[in-house]
Amino acid sequence: MAFVTLKDVLIKARAEHYAVGQFNINSVQWIEAILKAAQLNQSPVIVAASDRLIDFLGGFDWIVLAVKETMSRLEITVPVVLHLDHGQSVESCLAAIDAGFSSVMFDGSHESLSDNIRLTKIVTDYAKKNGVSVEAEVGTVGGNEDGLISGIQYAGLADCLRLVQETGIDALAAALGSVHGEYVGKPQLGFTEMAEIAEECRIPLVLHGASGIPEADLTKAIQLGHAKININTEANQAWFQSLKESLASAPKNHEPRLLLAPATVAISDVVSEKIRLFGSAGKA
Ligand SMILES: [Zn+2]
Repeated sequence: MAFVTLKDVLIKARAEHYAVGQFNINSVQWIEAILKAAQLNQSPVIVAASDRLIDFLGGFDWIVLAVKETMSRLEITVPVVLHLDHGQSVESCLAAIDAGFSSVMFDGSHESLSDNIRLTKIVTDYAKKNGVSVEAEVGTVGGNEDGLISGIQYAGLADCLRLVQETGIDALAAALGSVHGEYVGKPQLGFTEMAEIAEECRIPLVLHGASGIPEADLTKAIQLGHAKININTEANQAWFQSLKESLASAPKNHEPRLLLAPATVAISDVVSEKIRLFGSAGKA
């Protein structure tokens, strides 16, 4: 089955007030874990590879092949988006599109607004020709944003509107107080700004750094227009916890499969839990 785009799954999600989860892959086991959970819950899913991990994961072409092969082997019938997360350059986004990704994020949030718009537009022009969707970002998500350690910088409505209107992106990551990685203290999401931005920009919003945000806040963010929620840290923590338990319970075991198979189930369980929380179960 071919990959679908963000547009294919997020417009409906936004209209019906649920969100589609983006789950990042960190090795080949993540692909199977995420797809199995999506199929089990009959949910659309966004499988993402972060730009900074592309080489570690085997390169763009291999990732496309691996996800396609796994879909075919597991007889996956739910809609799957293959998305580049935090594309760090125009070149990376174009390479992902050429390899067969159905969606890319161009992250120009660390550039000036005019440069962010100019570079994002190059990506959207190329993406549209290839039937690929584009996500872009305004403001700064706190914490370790794919290698860039930064403080939170809230997105402004005027900047969001310009980026959306001048580039034709399909989804907007407006940084409103979320943090990548683990939270120190309680997350403070800007719900007033969120409502305004969702209302004026009229395209699905994306919540980055959702691991660790209380469930009630996530539900509110979905009601206010977030149709895509990114989860990475929580799945990694579950993987790590399971791996530690496997190592402790059989310290002489050195067979990777025996160590990693339970950890793959742990990732799948987190994905299933999030799918149910986001309300996308049964929406495939
Ligand atoms: Zn992010």
